[in-house]
Amino acid sequence: MTPASAWPADEVRRVGHRVVDTIAEYLTSLPDGPVFRPVPPASAERWQSDTLPAEGVSVDVLLDALARDVLPFPFGNGHPRFYGWVNSPPAPIGIFAEAIAAAMNPSVAGGNHAAVYVERQVVRWIATMVGYPPSAMGLLVSGTSTAALTALAVARHAACGRRGWDVRARGLQGLEQRLLLYKGAEGHACHQKAAEVLGLGSAAVRNVPSDDALRIDPGALDAMLEADLSAGHLPVAVVATAGTVNTGAIDPLAAIADVCERRGVWLHVDGAYGGPAVVLEECRDLIAPLARADSVAIDPHKWMYAPVDAGLVLVRGGEAMRDAFSLVPPYLRTDGDVHGVQGLPWFSEYGIEQTRPFRALKVWLTLRAFGRDGFRALFAHDVALARHLAARLRARPDFEVWEPQGLSIVCFRYLPPDADCAGGAVDDLNRAVLSEVQLGGTAFVSSTTLAGRFWLRACIVNPLAAEQDIDALVDAVAAAGRVAAGARPRAPLGGRRD
Ligand SMILES: *Cc1c(COP(=O)(O)O)cnc(C)c1O
Repeated sequence: MTPASAWPADEVRRVGHRVVDTIAEYLTSLPDGPVFRPVPPASAERWQSDTLPAEGVSVDVLLDALARDVLPFPFGNGHPRFYGWVNSPPAPIGIFAEAIAAAMNPSVAGGNHAAVYVERQVVRWIATMVGYPPSAMGLLVSGTSTAALTALAVARHAACGRRGWDVRARGLQGLEQRLLLYKGAEGHACHQKAAEVLGLGSAAVRNVPSDDALRIDPGALDAMLEADLSAGHLPVAVVATAGTVNTGAIDPLAAIADVCERRGVWLHVDGAYGGPAVVLEECRDLIAPLARADSVAIDPHKWMYAPVDAGLVLVRGGEAMRDAFSLVPPYLRTDGDVHGVQGLPWFSEYGIEQTRPFRALKVWLTLRAFGRDGFRALFAHDVALARHLAARLRARPDFEVWEPQGLSIVCFRYLPPDADCAGGAVDDLNRAVLSEVQLGGTAFVSSTTLAGRFWLRACIVNPLAAEQDIDALVDAVAAAGRVAAGARPRAPLGGRRD
């Protein structure tokens, strides 16, 4: 086995064609198989016990192994009837972008090379899309979890700085004020993780009460902030969500921005899933106030179809990011010549990572391949399918739909008229339905807890899905419901679309 750089051109082409054939076969045959099938226990055992071989093997042996052991066992995303979590199929150009980015393999810490300008352009395009001014700065990161950690570190630095405390030098050691973070009860758990990592602790995360539609109640937020400020505490940030992961609820962003402005508190908006829907006319008024947030997280790897991983953190006043993170070791000091070797200020001064991947290429190509109108059409397609699903389920006597249905998410439960509603019986019934549907292979949904109860959840971020796929999902959950209620056994694994 020779190093990559030593492959002759013909070998690069031969292997490349085999890889492309593998990708083509994978993508085009996906709809014919079950949406999901678990890794067989014997393979799982081998994966966990095999040790690193001493000798290398040929690339053909490797590609055979890939086709046999890896590609047949995906998590299901990419199938037209996969509606679990917020996992979209990748934009086809993004698949190839990954290979091209790896061929170039730069570190996008900084420097005067094209990858830096590609990322700058991606950041600027999406910043403009959310209504941010030119002073905004941002970074592509692994996802919204890292985006939130980055943004909240900036918020923490700014909040402490306003009280004369240099958190970069002193950490939180000896700080008398209690740092607090506010989020809606439906806010994503990554914000609690960020609070833990940033030294606030999970006990410092205040869950703001929600209304019946699971949106933050701005009046309750205001009252909490007032009480905490007068007790001498230090609010670091309020986290609001544009499209919650459970139901697609959009917090009242304008009213929350008013409260944050009045109280002088940083507003971070989690737009991981729903943020991009700002381009959709019908969502515009609800989502557009995210332009008033101090920071925003958006996941191009969710509703924007870039391959994982691609998250984006944006900070409205970009210099605050640099103040929170810039730490330039002597061997990387720039000479200020943007047209020389060092180029623009380095991305590594604005966040956590030093060596950074060329994530921007797949996002940039995906953005350009669809264009703004293309995204609008894709979002509208997913929202329309979600409404179709909700309408089909509402029309049946044996299902209950969570209202209000939001964006492209539908939460629902199997609830036949004669169901035993005692205790958690309906929850247990739906847990059985979930397992039946997921292992049945016809369609895939996930689950969540709403108001303390177990719900099935379909999230449609899938341009491959059509109405007939949604209808197949309805049939599959209804059949699974009858099985779970004890009516008849499961049909064999299947999956062919027709
Ligand atoms: C997915 C998601 C997150 C977490 O983002 P990752 O990219 O998985 O790190 C946070 N908030 C919302 C609303 C999400 O949908």
